[in-house]
This record gives sequence, structure tokens and C-alpha cells, in this order.
Amino acid sequence: MHDVLVIGGGPGGYAAAIRAAQLGGRVALIEAADLGGTCVNRGCIPSKVWMRAAYLKYWMVRAGEFGLKSEYKGLDIKVLVERKNEVGMDIRAGMKALLQKNGVELITGHGVFKNSREVVVDKKTCAAKKIIIATGSSLAVPEMKGLTEALMTSDQFFNLEDLPSSVLVVGDGPIEVELASMLANFDVETTLVAPGRRILPEEDRETSQRLGQALREQGLTIVTDTVIQSVEKSGSRFKAVMGEKILEADRILVGSRGSNTDGLGLEQAGIETGDDGTVRVNDRLETSVKGVYAIGDVAGGWMLSHAASAMGVTASENAMGSDTIFRSDLVPRGLWTNPEAAAVGLTEEQAERAGYEVEVGDFPYPVNGLAMLRGQVDGGVKVISDAKNREILGVHIVGAGATEIIGEAVMALQLECTAEELAHTIRLHPTFSECMMDAGRDLEGWALYLPPK
Ligand code: FAD
Repeated sequence: MHDVLVIGGGPGGYAAAIRAAQLGGRVALIEAADLGGTCVNRGCIPSKVWMRAAYLKYWMVRAGEFGLKSEYKGLDIKVLVERKNEVGMDIRAGMKALLQKNGVELITGHGVFKNSREVVVDKKTCAAKKIIIATGSSLAVPEMKGLTEALMTSDQFFNLEDLPSSVLVVGDGPIEVELASMLANFDVETTLVAPGRRILPEEDRETSQRLGQALREQGLTIVTDTVIQSVEKSGSRFKAVMGEKILEADRILVGSRGSNTDGLGLEQAGIETGDDGTVRVNDRLETSVKGVYAIGDVAGGWMLSHAASAMGVTASENAMGSDTIFRSDLVPRGLWTNPEAAAVGLTEEQAERAGYEVEVGDFPYPVNGLAMLRGQVDGGVKVISDAKNREILGVHIVGAGATEIIGEAVMALQLECTAEELAHTIRLHPTFSECMMDAGRDLEGWALYLPPK
């Protein structure tokens, strides 16, 4: 019998298995397809290889601003896809080796619960004292009449042989915004069709506005409050019908996702799911059944790799006898668009709804030295604090380096830093991170490099 059985070898399951083994557990990991899950094979890693290419293309075009003579002559997709595949291969090989070194038994096959302590994989029953569900998520294409022929999923996208000349991207979340911005950077006529009033509805209003404006200036069309009702063939293209409005494109890109619970046998183990199909967990990540935990995309919340991985650590520590709480309020979010965007903690609206007396500090990138010298002036840092005790409640960055700078914001929230501490923490010059300090000073009412209010 195993101490811990992990179902799913994505970033969540992988971290969980290693952590449980570090704590002395006899651990097995069941994976039905490729180690690395969505993240390594169809998500973070492939998308960031593509985003990097788009970023380099952008700078190839702008290199003349620095006196460099260069010309963009097109994209060799084969080379890019090959690079994406090689990076994935290297990461999967590293994962396999590390599981072995930690003594984790890797079982290949599809796991199905027989009961709350046993999982069947290809007719073989594996028993464990504790089980961690880490089966992740997969594409959930919305019902749309006529979509099938026009459809290009995010899974298919990263293995394309040719770039289409025009694409409608359906959705308003980070996956859709990243893919749309990247396509636009590659000169594909791209329209992001957002169902709500703004892109990134879960993020701060300022983030939606700042990023939306920058991406529009780079050629991305964003239409909001719009839902595609049906799709019709129109010569070699497709017409998307949205009430009175019709948009034409070569392909329609969908990236929406749903939790992987089908065929997992949750009912045999008595494990409850919520209305949205995710496995219900408490703040220790235990499901409705004692000794069974769920982590990552299958448990909903922030569907992000680092969240899955951190949840894996928490679940394994608890499975091995600790009593650790998972702080979902400290999960940072990021977009590798150009400019980047990243956030942690409450948005201004959320902080107000939660009853805080909210104060806001803001520092725009155009005033930052590094942003000026590099020609990366789009964006700004917005910091939200509680007027009563000055504690930082949220940080929302749009701008170059945002996905790195956010790390210090996470630390600030974790250590319950105040606006004063943020304002007095010295940063290297010239760096984008100076914007954090300057936003802190703005909160304190003494921004040195902004006109007096
Ligand atoms: P998954 O990565 O989905 O892994 C689950 C694994 O379980 C899979 O390998 C699957 O084969 C296996 N499995 C499922 N059912 C069974 C079963 N019954 N038996 C055995 N094995 C099973 N997140 C970020 O943090 N940063 C990003 O930049 C980012 N970019 C993304 C871009 C795209 C296009 C997409 C689609 C996602 C992106 N994400 C990103 C999200 C991220 O990929 C997921 O949040 C993360 O992979 C979730 O990890 P997980 O371990 O919960 O599940």
C-alpha cells in the first residue's frame, strides 16, 4: 500500500508527488498521457515559446530606434514548433528523472476511483492511505452553431503549419488575450471577441484599460459585450454572426477550459463536485471525503501552474500529517503580452466591496528611467492599501518586466507590508521595479517624480 497516490502528472501532481516523497512517503504518480500536463505540453511552455518569438519580432521591427539595421523577413513556423517541442521534451525528461530520484513510482494509464482508498489503472488496483486528485483541465469548446469547421483550439494552435491571415479569438481571459496579442504581433488580422464589458474581467479595471489600450495600439481589434451566436461558411472564410454584427475571418480560436472529472469515478468514492464541475475542497485542499485531496485546475480557483504546484505542496504536507492552509489570496496572475501584466491580491473594486477604506497609489511607466531608455513606456503600477492600517491589499502592474516584479509584491502581501515600507524599500536603478517604490511613495503622498497633487 502507498502512503500517497497522486492522479495526474501536471505541475500540480508532480509537485505533490515530490513533496510527499521528501516527507518520507511511499508515493506513486498515475499519468494517462504526457508528464507535464497542460502546462508543459499545451499551455504555459508552448505559449511562452510563441510569445517570445512574437516579442523578438516586435523588437526586430523597432531595432532601428537603437541604430541597429535589421529587417523582419517572416516566421519559419517549423523552427518555432521544433523549439517548442524540444523545450517540452527536455522538461518532461527532467521531470521523469526527478520523480525517479525521489523514489516516486510512475504508473502510466488512466486512473479511476474504485472507492475512496483504491484507484484502478488498466485493471490493476492501487491502494493508498491518502489520494491526491490532480487531473487538471482540458478544452471546453462552447456550443456554437457551425463552429466545427472554423474552429482552431489553443491545443492545435501551437502546432500550426501556417499562420492564418485573419482570426477571431473568442473570450476575455488571460489565455485568449495572450494568444490574440501574439497573433496581432505576427501581423495576423486579429479580433478579440469579449463577452463582457472589458477584457480580463477578474483583474483590476486599470489593468484592462492599460493593457487593452497598448494592445489596440499594436493592431489588435477588441470588441466587447459581444457573443458569437453562429458561424457560417463564406467562400474560403467564415462569418461569425453576433446579432446585427457580422465579422469575417479565416479561423475562430477558442481556449476556454473545464475541469477533468469525467471518467474519474468520483461518484464511486463519494467525492462531491460544485456546480461548475470542479472538485470541492476546503482550505486544506481536502475534498468532501477525508484523506482525499484535490489540487490545481480540477479544483478550480486560479487555474494557473504555480497555483497548482503550490496546492500540490499544501495537499502533500497535509496528507503527510501537517495542517497547512492554502492561501489562494496570495496567488499571483500574469500575462506575457507586450507589455506584460501581472497582479496579486485584491482589485480596487474587490477591496471596496470587502469594506476596506481604500487608498490607491499609482506610478506610470512613462516616468520610469529604464522604461524611457528602452522605449517601453506603456503601463503603470497601481498599489491598493487599507487607509486604516496602511497594509498593502493588492498590486496591479501593466508594463515591461511585470511578471518578474510581481514576485516582490507577493512577498509584500505575504509579509503584510505597509505602504510606508514599500515606499522606503530601496530598488536598483535603473529598473522597472522602481515603479513599485514610486507607487508606494504616491500612496504615502510624497511621489518624488510626479507633479504635486
Ligand atoms: P494539468 O496540467 O492539466 O495536468 C493534469 C494531468 O493529469 C494531465 O497530464 C492529464 O493527462 C492527467 N490526467 C487527467 N486525468 C487523468 C486520469 N484519470 N488518470 C491519470 N492521469 C490523468 N498557467 C500559468 O501559470 N502560466 C501560464 O503562462 C499559463 N499559460 C497557459 C496557456 C495556455 C494556452 C493554457 C491552455 C493554459 C495556460 N496556463 C498557464 C494554465 C496551466 O497550464 C494550468 O493551470 C496547469 O497546467 C494546471 O496544472 P494541473 O497539474 O492542475 O493540471
